[in-house]
Amino acid sequence: MALDVTSSVVPLDSSSETINVFWHEGMLEHDTGKGVFDSGIDPGFLDVLEKHPENEDRIKNMLSILKRGPIAPLISWHSGRLATISELLLFHTQEYINELLETDKSGAKEICHGTFLNSGSWDAALLAAGTAILAMKHILDRKGKFSYALVRPPGHHAQPSRADGYCFINNAGLAVKLALNSGCEKVAVIDIDVHYGNGTAEGFYNSDRVLTISLHMNHGSWGPSHPQNGTVDELGEGNGLGYNLNIPLPNGTGDKGYGYAMTELVVPAIENFKPDMVVLVIGQDSSAFDPNGRQCLTMDGYREIGRSVRALGEKHCNGRVLIVQEGGYHVTYSAYCLHATLEGVLNVPAPLLSDPIAYYPEDDSFSANVIDAIKNYHLDNVPFMRKA
Ligand SMILES: [Zn+2]
Repeated sequence: MALDVTSSVVPLDSSSETINVFWHEGMLEHDTGKGVFDSGIDPGFLDVLEKHPENEDRIKNMLSILKRGPIAPLISWHSGRLATISELLLFHTQEYINELLETDKSGAKEICHGTFLNSGSWDAALLAAGTAILAMKHILDRKGKFSYALVRPPGHHAQPSRADGYCFINNAGLAVKLALNSGCEKVAVIDIDVHYGNGTAEGFYNSDRVLTISLHMNHGSWGPSHPQNGTVDELGEGNGLGYNLNIPLPNGTGDKGYGYAMTELVVPAIENFKPDMVVLVIGQDSSAFDPNGRQCLTMDGYREIGRSVRALGEKHCNGRVLIVQEGGYHVTYSAYCLHATLEGVLNVPAPLLSDPIAYYPEDDSFSANVIDAIKNYHLDNVPFMRKA
């Protein structure tokens, strides 16, 4: 059953706020190839091989829905740029960057499972990093409250000295570093990609100035490139103890479960932390139809998360929110869920676009129990949450 997706387009008030979207078409040049899913390998059993899930089509649709969807009048477009090597060193080690430069010179290589640095990939990675930095700078320069960095390759698995999970450079991590170096005292990162934002967590694991919160499926470590487990006991170290909050959620958590996790876990943590900048790291691979995840969010769920993060930004950060694109591999639904998320951030009074495919019977009782257990764990083990 398909809904009439054109009937729900709501006319917009011209006095509405805008989101500044930062983008550069050079990021489409990162060619991840074909194979069985993300393997890059064709054993010869299939007549029709799909592209690698992290392909340019997903981003082309995100771009087009923001240009031609009903949110289009609320978008202000800005061109991205390449990051410099010295900017990369804000988050990454010199040795690691040298390795990437050497790999780029020597030709195509699979750096770790599913993570291909091919011809054109390095410039795309530099553009993703520079574009995220520029999106943050726009906010820091007080040119706008909301920036969205529409970037690929994604970044949140990239650790200071390691590539992982389709990521080379941690785009959001670089933006956070810029904020810290530009007068922000404390930054909160809320990562709703279906995978653990292990790279960002690792980069700030010893810091009490960056609160990293990740809501993800309970996938654990997936190999040498991803040694972290994403479990609740990975809380940070030293000064950073308690400033990495992992929220591993059961498969099928859905809109209600995510709403409960936001209300019970994310909002109280941000209230106690009192950041002066919020970064929302988004991946639509937590949707109901993603090939890489089973969390079953729909457009409604993403819209509510956007609304909730906007409210946190208004309360603590003069409304300032940077949004950075990560995963999201269903070529159609990722674009629609992005549209819904940005509707939420803009707090539009009614949905601008109806959901073309959502149907998932939710049972939120299991997720609610898990979230209650995580809440109790935080209250027992996270010093800054105990003060509440
Ligand atoms: Zn992901």
